[in-house]
Amino acid sequence: MSNIEHDEESVIASRRNFLKLGGLAAAGTTIGAAAGAGFVLGRDPDANVGWGRTEAGADQFFNRKPFEVDTPPTLKVVGKVERPEYEDYLFSRRRLIQKAIKDGWDVDSGYENFPDERIRKYYRRYPDRWPEMLQAFVEMGRRKENIDSVAERYSLAWAYGRSYLKGMYVANFPPVPVEHPDIADFAWVKGKPAEFKTPQHASDLVKKMAHKFGASIVGVTKLDPAFVFKNRMRMGGTDDNWDDSIPKHWKNIIVFGVPMNWDPMYAAAGYSTSYDGYFRAKTISGLLAAWLGEMGYAARPQFPGGDYETVLPPIAIQAGMGESARNGILVTPEVGPNIRLAAVITNLDIEPDKPVNLHIRAFCEDCKICADTCPSGSISKADKPDAVIRGFERFDFNQDSCYRFWCTAPTDSGMGCRVCIAVCPYTRKNNWIHTVVKEMDPRDPTGITRKALLAMQHNFFYYPTAEAFHPEWTGGNNAGYHEPPEWMRPENYLKVNKTWEYDGNWEGF
Ligand code: SF4
Ligand code: SF4
Repeated sequence: MSNIEHDEESVIASRRNFLKLGGLAAAGTTIGAAAGAGFVLGRDPDANVGWGRTEAGADQFFNRKPFEVDTPPTLKVVGKVERPEYEDYLFSRRRLIQKAIKDGWDVDSGYENFPDERIRKYYRRYPDRWPEMLQAFVEMGRRKENIDSVAERYSLAWAYGRSYLKGMYVANFPPVPVEHPDIADFAWVKGKPAEFKTPQHASDLVKKMAHKFGASIVGVTKLDPAFVFKNRMRMGGTDDNWDDSIPKHWKNIIVFGVPMNWDPMYAAAGYSTSYDGYFRAKTISGLLAAWLGEMGYAARPQFPGGDYETVLPPIAIQAGMGESARNGILVTPEVGPNIRLAAVITNLDIEPDKPVNLHIRAFCEDCKICADTCPSGSISKADKPDAVIRGFERFDFNQDSCYRFWCTAPTDSGMGCRVCIAVCPYTRKNNWIHTVVKEMDPRDPTGITRKALLAMQHNFFYYPTAEAFHPEWTGGNNAGYHEPPEWMRPENYLKVNKTWEYDGNWEGF
């Protein structure tokens, strides 16, 4: 080979290398641009619900088909399955205790001397939760004394939260039923039932209607009595007037959810509210009940703020919407645990959806981010599920200490925290990176994808300490997982004297 030939080859080789490098650079640029575009799309406020730009477009959904199973892995039965009791619901307990205190009951006399057996029964089961519940009342008082000190800082957040609160409780739609279901559920019915071609057609149309009315994710399933409360029937404002029997026409349940607005939710605790998601979910339940009535079918909406008769997260699991996570919340592949649920029980024959196995349990076993970040230490840090709740295997969760922290939060209503939702790696808008990862992880039997993701999560993202989420008057820093969005910062819009610093990830992250 001559030098010239050699040189020509070198030139050709180096051209090839150049082209290869150029190709790689171009591919890199393309991926980078696509990542940027995907990221931006995911962050775009127009993609409010986080899963796509249309209310029922094909681009919004995770394809659950390959992951369908007969028995949901996060609803594993390991004991005697029992229906939830009135007192299992935190707000029922709070209602009874608040009333007793108002009536002059001495809190120091202990739960064994509480005038209602339901409370005695619950805290005999969970004695360590009793002081947490009592402390919640102490925190309510402390909050009241200190709340003015942060009024300026949270003024825009409170205005936002209050708007939804008014929407929730001033508007009476759907109305809370005040008669027996055999009457109230048929009040929606106009005319004789429309005949659907098949239960599958009924399911398809019901889901489309739920999306049209604003639902992001919808599932249908047979109503399992295991998730129907005892003694919580809504029949005119009293709590004790139900004989526990489940009405015959309560055959199927349509369960659906919407995410809370993303930016305030990421800025939990002080800036977020559940009422935005609750308001939309509640309204959808009314619209869907009205539509079912127009079609000739009974409908009983289950909605936030109207006292549920059912426990919706396990029902959503049965309907294939997602799985139960360490933080005790439903996790969906589209919006993670950032979902607020409502439902409508009906006598319409609907083809049920199947539950899914997305290996969320395995992810939670390795992750523990919510447990490490929870300001009240309410979430189990165990490696494996460590509790049995009414016969089902679960991670342990202390409702009462969680509620105790709610009572300290600088939200206008003094209600709620949501940090465990904000910090969860599944709580991400659906840009293409997340879409790819969500497809990969459940298909990876080695767990390498999960471990790599978690390493990235721990190393690339800042998490304030659990203590930092507390308000200053209990020794914290009023931290959020994210700093508040710009439209919630009063110094950007109002004449205020900014005396505070924000602690959390940059809002655009
Ligand atoms: S809502 Fe807050 S206090 Fe309750 S479990 Fe979640 S992070 Fe903990
Ligand atoms: S933060 Fe981690 S452990 Fe907690 S629910 Fe989300 S994935 Fe599971």
